[in-house]
Amino acid sequence: MQVVERHYTMMRQNQTVEYVRRMHDKFCWFNTDGSPKPRKAHGMMEIYEAFEALGDYVDSSDPDSAFPNIEHSFQTAEGIRAAGYPDWMQLIGLVHDIGKMMFKYGTPEDGHEGTATGCQWALGGDTWVVGCKLPDGACFPEFNKLNPDMADPRYNTEMGIYKKGQGMATLMYAFGHDEYAYQVIKNHTDKMRAAGAKGEDLIPDEGLAMLRYHSCYPWHNKGDYDRFMAPGDEKLKEAVLKFNRFDLYTKADVRPDVPALWPYYQKLIDRFLPGKLAW
Ligand code: FE
Ligand code: FE
Repeated sequence: MQVVERHYTMMRQNQTVEYVRRMHDKFCWFNTDGSPKPRKAHGMMEIYEAFEALGDYVDSSDPDSAFPNIEHSFQTAEGIRAAGYPDWMQLIGLVHDIGKMMFKYGTPEDGHEGTATGCQWALGGDTWVVGCKLPDGACFPEFNKLNPDMADPRYNTEMGIYKKGQGMATLMYAFGHDEYAYQVIKNHTDKMRAAGAKGEDLIPDEGLAMLRYHSCYPWHNKGDYDRFMAPGDEKLKEAVLKFNRFDLYTKADVRPDVPALWPYYQKLIDRFLPGKLAW
């Protein structure tokens, strides 16, 4: 079986409500209702240290790139910068996949093996909403029937455990680098706000949405979850779509000169995500 097919088979077999709840307990700072949850950090690291932890990780869900993820991160950021988008969005381009360093803290039961070359079905790949029927718009919809929740009457209906219009932020998604980076960076942003940082030095909600939803193609690309949207979600969806052009079309081709670009991005990091973040 090809690497990408294998990835999505395992992802569909393993990403269930029960699994996502377990990962939220292990990795996330917030409950799905947004209330903070006490959690001990796995480690305190600056952004550059998190990139070092990510190392030579190459994404097994990505058919377009055989290069280390850090090059894709710089390509995405540089695309956003060249298009004239604001500083915070350039930084989101840089860090949008940084959550993949989570594999460092994983175990085989989590779907990570603590290596950059092991299973990655809990890290990357297009996501979907768990707790309701898997959409036909999911990539490899032929694997949907492999998902144990699709045989569970609590989770296999159109609405599943949710209510119409309850808001995208209140749903649970197949767990991976999107949710993890969102939670780590939201936590740090909240801390900065509490410490009195000015609004223009904080990553806005649109930026946090780009982190959290960029892999949820069934929502932003196929309109599969519009029934759950609340006021304000349309604006966030537009932000994610604006971001995704750069995520998709900046892979491979020209390899970025990472050391030459680093000082520019370190300045953005010092402004929006300074110091050590709790991972
Ligand atoms: Fe990603
Ligand atoms: Fe990406």
